[in-house]
Amino acid sequence: MCGEMSSPPTSFEWRTGDLAIAHALWDKQFGKGGSLDTQILEASKLKKYEQYRGFLFAIVPLYITSICVESCLYCNFRAGNRGVKLQRVRLRPLQLADEVQYLIEKKGLRVIELVYATDPLVRVDRMCKDVERVQRLLAKSGGGAVGINAEALDVDEYRRLKDAGLDFIVLWQETYDRDQYIKYHPGTTKKACFEYRLEAYDRMFVAGIRTIGMGILSGLSDWRLDWALLMDHEAYISETYGIGPCILGVPRLKGAAGALVRETPWVPNRQEFKCAVALHNLFAPSVLPFLSTREDWELCSEMASGGGALFTLNCSTIPGGYAARAQGYQFPTDNFDAPLYAPRLIRQGLLPVFDWKFSKGEAVIAERRLASGTGAQE
Ligand code: SF4
Repeated sequence: MCGEMSSPPTSFEWRTGDLAIAHALWDKQFGKGGSLDTQILEASKLKKYEQYRGFLFAIVPLYITSICVESCLYCNFRAGNRGVKLQRVRLRPLQLADEVQYLIEKKGLRVIELVYATDPLVRVDRMCKDVERVQRLLAKSGGGAVGINAEALDVDEYRRLKDAGLDFIVLWQETYDRDQYIKYHPGTTKKACFEYRLEAYDRMFVAGIRTIGMGILSGLSDWRLDWALLMDHEAYISETYGIGPCILGVPRLKGAAGALVRETPWVPNRQEFKCAVALHNLFAPSVLPFLSTREDWELCSEMASGGGALFTLNCSTIPGGYAARAQGYQFPTDNFDAPLYAPRLIRQGLLPVFDWKFSKGEAVIAERRLASGTGAQE
């Protein structure tokens, strides 16, 4: 990684792309609810509003399989977990189509993140077919976008996904602390290799994918260091490929039913977490934090201040968890039903957009939506 964290910012000037911003994470007042937090949160809201005018971009995760050979200690889907709350499900192609139709027709959601556990029978061939299938369904209904969240892959595999019509890809590094990473990801499988995952972002760019998401699972190690190293990694990507990530993964460790690690001393509290996301907004205002229902409504909507975030409304971490109402989550989530909660966002001064896509690494609202004078879903 190439960025150097120079001296702390004098009187916190919050210059976009300045890695010195990360020094604020270690300020004694950071995350304490005082004037420094107010300064960060207000500056973040302003920067986001200047760029995104309150627009939020609705996205929905769609889990394809919960069968996994990996052993991530914090996950309910880990290999060997036979907990009563877990059913192993692999969606068949027609079941996937049913879920997509349901999300489009009943909920108006048309930007879909396909999520895969590391299933030995769901390899890149199947992922490509899924991408093509979802693209066909979206095209029939007026368009949308499809991305994936899956294991780290090789360059050729990323290239095949791009050729299949993939719009975006997200991968969370989990933690930049190599020793802790190895403890949480035991075994000899792909995910156990810290470097293979770390270098996956380079492989995406080499394969020609330009719309990527990076992130960490806050709480696996010293969260301050992880956030700072994430910014450093983003700076390296920007300098190397001429474009940075456009999505920021912001999961925070929450105890899942069958997890072997359910809490650590390193989980940031609400205020610290909210300020870390806001600080990142100052570092990279164009990047969209992926706000998920792992967090409650109040925190999600606070973190969405000013706009410029991906926002999960309907949310299930269960393959078949929408139309088929299957059971057996990866981690517990809320579910903010889109028809009910979109108007609530509007009342809070935010503008949820359902009809959008990525173009050249940026979220773009469908022209017909802009022509109607609003980005929000009526
Ligand atoms: S985090 Fe992903 S790879 Fe790890 S056990 Fe869970 S589903 Fe499998």
